[in-house]
Amino acid sequence: AYWPASGHIEVEKLSARYSEDGPKVLREVSFQVAAGERVGIVGRTGSGKSTLTLALLRCILTEGNVRYDGLPTEKINLDALRSSITIIPQVPELLSGTLRQNLDPFSEHDDAVLNDALRSAGLFNLQDERDQSRITLDTQIAGGGANLSVGQRQILALARAIVRRSKLLILDEATSAIDYETDAIIQASLRTELGKDVTLLTVAHRLQTIMDADKIIVSAIMSMIRSTPDSHI
Ligand code: ATP
Ligand code: MG
Repeated sequence: AYWPASGHIEVEKLSARYSEDGPKVLREVSFQVAAGERVGIVGRTGSGKSTLTLALLRCILTEGNVRYDGLPTEKINLDALRSSITIIPQVPELLSGTLRQNLDPFSEHDDAVLNDALRSAGLFNLQDERDQSRITLDTQIAGGGANLSVGQRQILALARAIVRRSKLLILDEATSAIDYETDAIIQASLRTELGKDVTLLTVAHRLQTIMDADKIIVSAIMSMIRSTPDSHI
Protein backbone atom coordinates (compact mmCIF):
# COMPACT_ATOMS: atom_id res chain seq x y z
CA ALA A 1 0.00 0.00 0.00
CA TYR A 2 1.18 3.48 -0.76
CA TRP A 3 1.25 6.11 1.90
CA PRO A 4 -0.26 8.63 2.19
CA ALA A 5 -3.37 6.78 1.09
CA SER A 6 -5.33 9.77 -0.08
CA GLY A 7 -3.28 12.95 -0.02
CA HIS A 8 -5.47 15.03 2.29
CA ILE A 9 -3.53 17.84 3.97
CA GLU A 10 -4.38 20.00 6.97
CA VAL A 11 -2.09 22.89 7.80
CA GLU A 12 -2.68 24.68 11.08
CA LYS A 13 -0.84 27.78 12.20
CA LEU A 14 2.31 26.78 10.40
CA SER A 15 5.27 29.06 10.99
CA ALA A 16 8.73 28.55 9.59
CA ARG A 17 12.22 29.99 9.86
CA TYR A 18 15.55 29.12 8.30
CA SER A 19 17.63 29.30 11.49
CA GLU A 20 17.06 29.33 15.23
CA ASP A 21 17.69 33.06 15.46
CA GLY A 22 16.32 33.96 12.03
CA PRO A 23 13.03 35.74 11.34
CA LYS A 24 9.79 33.86 10.81
CA VAL A 25 9.33 33.69 7.07
CA LEU A 26 5.93 32.02 7.38
CA ARG A 27 3.66 33.14 10.16
CA GLU A 28 0.68 31.04 11.27
CA VAL A 29 -0.43 29.81 7.89
CA SER A 30 -3.59 27.69 7.91
CA PHE A 31 -5.35 25.90 5.07
CA GLN A 32 -6.73 22.52 4.08
CA VAL A 33 -6.45 20.58 0.87
CA ALA A 34 -8.81 17.73 0.07
CA ALA A 35 -7.49 14.55 -1.52
CA GLY A 36 -7.21 14.96 -5.27
CA GLU A 37 -7.54 18.72 -5.10
CA ARG A 38 -5.49 21.03 -7.33
CA VAL A 39 -4.16 24.03 -5.50
CA GLY A 40 -2.38 27.01 -6.97
CA ILE A 41 0.00 29.04 -4.83
CA VAL A 42 0.74 32.55 -6.05
CA GLY A 43 2.36 35.66 -4.67
CA ARG A 44 5.22 38.06 -5.13
CA THR A 45 8.81 37.02 -5.31
CA GLY A 46 10.21 36.58 -1.81
CA SER A 47 6.76 36.21 -0.26
CA GLY A 48 7.36 32.69 1.06
CA LYS A 49 6.02 30.27 -1.57
CA SER A 50 9.10 28.06 -1.74
CA THR A 51 9.45 28.32 2.02
CA LEU A 52 5.94 26.89 2.37
CA THR A 53 6.86 23.89 0.20
CA LEU A 54 9.92 23.23 2.40
CA ALA A 55 7.92 23.70 5.61
CA LEU A 56 5.35 21.12 4.49
CA LEU A 57 8.09 18.49 4.44
CA ARG A 58 9.79 19.84 7.56
CA CYS A 59 12.98 20.57 5.67
CA ILE A 60 13.31 23.79 7.68
CA LEU A 61 12.41 24.74 11.26
CA THR A 62 8.64 24.79 11.77
CA GLU A 63 6.02 25.38 14.43
CA GLY A 64 2.36 24.51 14.14
CA ASN A 65 0.70 21.41 12.72
CA VAL A 66 0.76 19.69 9.38
CA ARG A 67 -1.26 16.50 9.01
CA TYR A 68 -1.23 14.18 6.03
CA ASP A 69 -4.23 11.88 5.95
CA GLY A 70 -4.86 12.93 9.55
CA LEU A 71 -1.37 11.91 10.71
CA PRO A 72 0.73 14.67 12.27
CA THR A 73 4.10 14.95 10.52
CA GLU A 74 5.93 14.57 13.85
CA LYS A 75 4.51 11.04 13.99
CA ILE A 76 5.80 10.20 10.54
CA ASN A 77 9.36 9.12 10.01
CA LEU A 78 11.03 11.86 7.97
CA ASP A 79 12.36 9.42 5.39
CA ALA A 80 8.88 7.96 4.90
CA LEU A 81 7.47 11.47 4.67
CA ARG A 82 9.95 12.59 2.07
CA SER A 83 9.74 9.44 -0.02
CA SER A 84 5.93 9.42 -0.17
CA ILE A 85 5.51 13.02 -1.12
CA THR A 86 7.35 14.46 -4.06
CA ILE A 87 8.45 18.03 -4.10
CA ILE A 88 9.78 19.38 -7.37
CA PRO A 89 11.81 22.48 -6.53
CA GLN A 90 12.33 25.50 -8.77
CA VAL A 91 15.72 24.15 -9.77
CA PRO A 92 15.77 20.37 -9.28
CA GLU A 93 19.08 18.74 -8.50
CA LEU A 94 19.69 15.43 -10.22
CA LEU A 95 22.25 12.82 -9.30
CA SER A 96 25.24 12.08 -11.47
CA GLY A 97 24.70 8.82 -13.33
CA THR A 98 22.35 7.74 -16.06
CA LEU A 99 18.82 9.03 -16.35
CA ARG A 100 17.74 5.44 -15.62
CA GLN A 101 19.54 5.55 -12.25
CA ASN A 102 17.94 8.89 -11.46
CA LEU A 103 14.46 7.60 -12.16
CA ASP A 104 14.92 4.24 -10.49
CA PRO A 105 17.82 4.31 -8.00
CA PHE A 106 17.06 0.82 -6.68
CA SER A 107 16.54 -0.84 -10.10
CA GLU A 108 12.98 -1.83 -9.28
CA HIS A 109 11.40 -1.14 -12.67
CA ASP A 110 11.61 -2.21 -16.31
CA ASP A 111 12.68 0.28 -18.93
CA ALA A 112 9.13 0.22 -20.31
CA VAL A 113 7.79 1.61 -17.03
CA LEU A 114 10.47 4.30 -16.97
CA ASN A 115 9.84 5.27 -20.59
CA ASP A 116 6.10 5.47 -19.91
CA ALA A 117 6.83 7.86 -17.05
CA LEU A 118 9.05 9.98 -19.29
CA ARG A 119 6.30 10.06 -21.91
CA SER A 120 3.68 10.99 -19.30
CA ALA A 121 5.88 13.72 -17.92
CA GLY A 122 6.08 15.20 -21.43
CA LEU A 123 9.74 14.63 -22.27
CA PHE A 124 9.00 13.14 -25.70
CA ASN A 125 6.88 16.15 -26.65
CA LEU A 126 9.99 18.20 -26.20
CA GLN A 127 12.40 16.33 -28.46
CA ASP A 128 12.63 14.81 -31.90
CA GLU A 129 12.95 11.00 -32.02
CA ARG A 130 15.63 11.29 -34.73
CA ASP A 131 17.76 13.73 -32.77
CA GLN A 132 21.03 11.95 -31.95
CA SER A 133 21.51 14.03 -28.82
CA ARG A 134 18.01 13.43 -27.45
CA ILE A 135 17.62 12.41 -23.83
CA THR A 136 17.12 8.70 -23.23
CA LEU A 137 17.41 6.39 -20.21
CA ASP A 138 21.11 5.95 -21.06
CA THR A 139 21.88 9.67 -21.06
CA GLN A 140 24.58 10.54 -18.53
CA ILE A 141 23.46 13.23 -16.13
CA ALA A 142 26.20 15.48 -14.77
CA GLY A 143 26.32 16.17 -11.02
CA GLY A 144 23.29 18.21 -9.97
CA GLY A 145 21.89 18.00 -13.50
CA ALA A 146 24.25 20.66 -14.83
CA ASN A 147 24.05 19.40 -18.42
CA LEU A 148 20.27 19.85 -18.56
CA SER A 149 18.06 22.90 -18.70
CA VAL A 150 15.97 23.75 -15.67
CA GLY A 151 12.80 22.89 -17.59
CA GLN A 152 14.21 19.50 -18.59
CA ARG A 153 15.17 18.83 -14.99
CA GLN A 154 11.65 19.62 -13.83
CA ILE A 155 10.22 17.25 -16.42
CA LEU A 156 12.60 14.49 -15.30
CA ALA A 157 11.74 15.15 -11.66
CA LEU A 158 8.08 14.86 -12.60
CA ALA A 159 8.81 11.51 -14.29
CA ARG A 160 10.48 10.38 -11.06
CA ALA A 161 7.31 11.30 -9.14
CA ILE A 162 5.24 9.26 -11.60
CA VAL A 163 7.55 6.24 -11.13
CA ARG A 164 7.23 6.60 -7.36
CA ARG A 165 3.47 6.95 -7.64
CA SER A 166 3.44 9.86 -5.24
CA LYS A 167 -0.01 10.73 -3.98
CA LEU A 168 1.03 14.22 -3.16
CA LEU A 169 2.99 16.30 -5.57
CA ILE A 170 4.31 19.76 -4.81
CA LEU A 171 5.60 21.58 -7.85
CA ASP A 172 7.51 24.81 -7.39
CA GLU A 173 7.46 26.09 -10.94
CA ALA A 174 10.68 27.40 -12.39
CA THR A 175 10.51 31.12 -13.02
CA SER A 176 12.26 32.91 -15.85
CA ALA A 177 14.42 29.94 -16.71
CA ILE A 178 11.55 27.98 -18.21
CA ASP A 179 10.04 28.71 -21.59
CA TYR A 180 6.36 28.88 -22.28
CA GLU A 181 6.30 25.63 -24.25
CA THR A 182 8.00 23.60 -21.52
CA ASP A 183 5.69 25.07 -18.92
CA ALA A 184 2.68 24.17 -21.06
CA ILE A 185 3.97 20.61 -21.47
CA ILE A 186 4.39 20.19 -17.72
CA GLN A 187 0.91 21.56 -17.07
CA ALA A 188 -0.66 19.35 -19.73
CA SER A 189 1.08 16.29 -18.24
CA LEU A 190 -0.22 17.14 -14.82
CA ARG A 191 -3.76 17.57 -16.10
CA THR A 192 -4.03 14.46 -18.19
CA GLU A 193 -1.60 11.79 -17.12
CA LEU A 194 -1.55 11.97 -13.38
CA GLY A 195 -5.30 11.73 -13.13
CA LYS A 196 -7.56 12.71 -10.32
CA ASP A 197 -6.02 10.65 -7.56
CA VAL A 198 -3.03 12.91 -7.04
CA THR A 199 -3.18 15.94 -4.79
CA LEU A 200 -1.28 18.70 -6.50
CA LEU A 201 0.11 21.92 -5.09
CA THR A 202 1.60 24.16 -7.73
CA VAL A 203 3.52 27.33 -7.08
CA ALA A 204 2.60 29.18 -10.25
CA HIS A 205 3.90 32.22 -12.04
CA ARG A 206 1.46 32.35 -14.90
CA LEU A 207 -2.26 32.89 -14.59
CA GLN A 208 -2.82 30.13 -17.12
CA THR A 209 -1.29 27.58 -14.76
CA ILE A 210 -3.83 28.13 -12.02
CA MET A 211 -6.90 28.72 -14.17
CA ASP A 212 -8.45 25.35 -13.36
CA ALA A 213 -7.21 25.09 -9.78
CA ASP A 214 -9.78 24.11 -7.14
CA LYS A 215 -8.27 26.55 -4.69
CA ILE A 216 -5.80 29.41 -4.78
CA ILE A 217 -3.49 30.34 -1.94
CA VAL A 218 -2.05 33.83 -2.08
CA SER A 219 1.18 34.40 -0.23
CA ALA A 220 1.91 37.86 1.09
CA ILE A 221 5.15 38.96 2.70
CA MET A 222 5.44 37.36 6.15
CA SER A 223 1.91 35.96 6.07
CA MET A 224 -0.38 33.90 3.94
CA ILE A 225 -3.96 34.76 3.18
CA ARG A 226 -6.24 31.94 2.21
CA SER A 227 -8.90 32.38 -0.38
CA THR A 228 -12.39 31.13 0.41
CA PRO A 229 -12.51 27.32 0.45
CA ASP A 230 -14.40 26.89 -2.80
CA SER A 231 -13.21 29.88 -4.69
CA HIS A 232 -12.64 29.61 -8.40
CA ILE A 233 -11.11 32.12 -10.69
P1 ATP B 1 10.13 33.42 -5.73
O1 ATP B 1 8.82 33.72 -6.38
O2 ATP B 1 11.18 34.39 -6.14
O3 ATP B 1 10.56 31.99 -5.90
P2 ATP B 1 9.27 32.82 -2.98
O4 ATP B 1 7.88 33.29 -2.74
O5 ATP B 1 9.44 31.37 -3.29
O6 ATP B 1 9.94 33.71 -4.14
P3 ATP B 1 10.94 32.27 -0.69
O7 ATP B 1 12.09 31.62 -1.39
O8 ATP B 1 10.01 31.38 0.04
O9 ATP B 1 10.12 33.21 -1.69
O10 ATP B 1 11.56 33.34 0.32
C1 ATP B 1 10.80 33.94 1.34
C2 ATP B 1 11.74 34.67 2.30
O11 ATP B 1 12.60 33.73 2.91
C3 ATP B 1 12.63 35.69 1.61
O12 ATP B 1 12.67 36.84 2.44
C4 ATP B 1 13.99 35.03 1.56
O13 ATP B 1 15.01 35.96 1.67
C5 ATP B 1 13.97 34.10 2.76
N1 ATP B 1 14.77 32.89 2.47
C6 ATP B 1 14.61 32.04 1.44
N2 ATP B 1 15.50 31.05 1.46
C7 ATP B 1 16.28 31.28 2.55
C8 ATP B 1 17.38 30.61 3.13
N3 ATP B 1 17.88 29.47 2.62
N4 ATP B 1 17.91 31.12 4.27
C9 ATP B 1 17.41 32.25 4.83
N5 ATP B 1 16.36 32.93 4.32
C10 ATP B 1 15.80 32.46 3.21
MG1 MG C 1 10.39 30.38 -4.79
